[in-house]
Amino acid sequence: ERLVAAGADDIERAAEAALRPRSLEDFVGQRVVRDQLSLVLHAALGRGTPPDHVLLSGPPGLGKTTLAMIIANELGTSLRVTSGPAIQHAGDLAAVLSSLEEGEVLFIDEIHRLARPAEELLYVAMEDFRVDVVVGKGAGASAIPLSLPPFTVVGATTRAGLLPAPLRDRFGFTGHLDFYAADELERVVTRSAHLLGAPLDADAARELASRSRGTPRIANRLLRRVRDWAQVRGDGSMDLRAARAALEVYEVDALGLDRLDRAVLTSLCTRFNGGPVGLSTLAVTVGEETETVETVAEPYLVREGLMGRTPRGRVATPAAWAHLGLEPPAPAGT
Ligand code: ATP
Repeated sequence: ERLVAAGADDIERAAEAALRPRSLEDFVGQRVVRDQLSLVLHAALGRGTPPDHVLLSGPPGLGKTTLAMIIANELGTSLRVTSGPAIQHAGDLAAVLSSLEEGEVLFIDEIHRLARPAEELLYVAMEDFRVDVVVGKGAGASAIPLSLPPFTVVGATTRAGLLPAPLRDRFGFTGHLDFYAADELERVVTRSAHLLGAPLDADAARELASRSRGTPRIANRLLRRVRDWAQVRGDGSMDLRAARAALEVYEVDALGLDRLDRAVLTSLCTRFNGGPVGLSTLAVTVGEETETVETVAEPYLVREGLMGRTPRGRVATPAAWAHLGLEPPAPAGT
């Protein structure tokens, strides 16, 4: 598994639970979303009714699940958790909905992956607080309406554009989470280090923040590796030396690139003179599937301005040559 991947498996999610902020006040960064959400929640609390349904969109690891938990906490209610892929049939969703208590928050992760029949059932439930339970089969089937107590859906998606408009329209508030600035990530790792009982020096926090790809999940993961290094090979101090040494062991460089990212860039520069070259050719030279290079390495390289996409293929930017310490070829004709 890559240390700089934005996603997480169940084991990592369990480790993350201890580091989750529990209130909006403790949630670092995302000032606009936090401010808007705070208004929505306080207004609902003041009225004594559940708030509008909330949609959170943005790349993995930026805090959508954390915000869903905070919403339930701030409302003083409980959170029920499910996800698009976990709901195979509309009946599964009907069962979850009909067991909700008044005011509860239902978190649906990866909501863009709900199957169509479940999605249709959800529209009605969100709008009218009702599910139609189908009894019988074929021509004799009939729908019995079952009313639900008011509740709030918090949907999370990495692909807001994939949500059908009718579903999107049922959300009264949409918050878009963006990558974090370096100073915000410094606050995230500093806070996490305190919670782990291993306080981090300020310059070590800065170093981790700059290599975390704008993503708190990655920042916290790098922090855990630094803690290992400090404990096993260092003297326990969470200082700059420990941060740099740990990240060297794991081959995460100053920009947060790992070995695959660098292999792709190096190949692009040294074998193809900076491109343009087709992605599949590039993938063969680094011994990876085209899809892996496209989904795992390319997005961050493009985001960091190290690789460009042109109709004729991928190209290395001047920043890529500089990052690798290589001299770009002289322009033709000089
Ligand atoms: P996914 O889409 O993969 O489910 P996510 O967007 O739901 O990811 P979370 O699981 O909420 O991300 O966050 C990942 C980790 O980063 C958690 O440990 C969480 O505590 C931490 N984290 C995320 N955002 C913040 C933040 N703003 N402040 C402090 N810690 C944060």
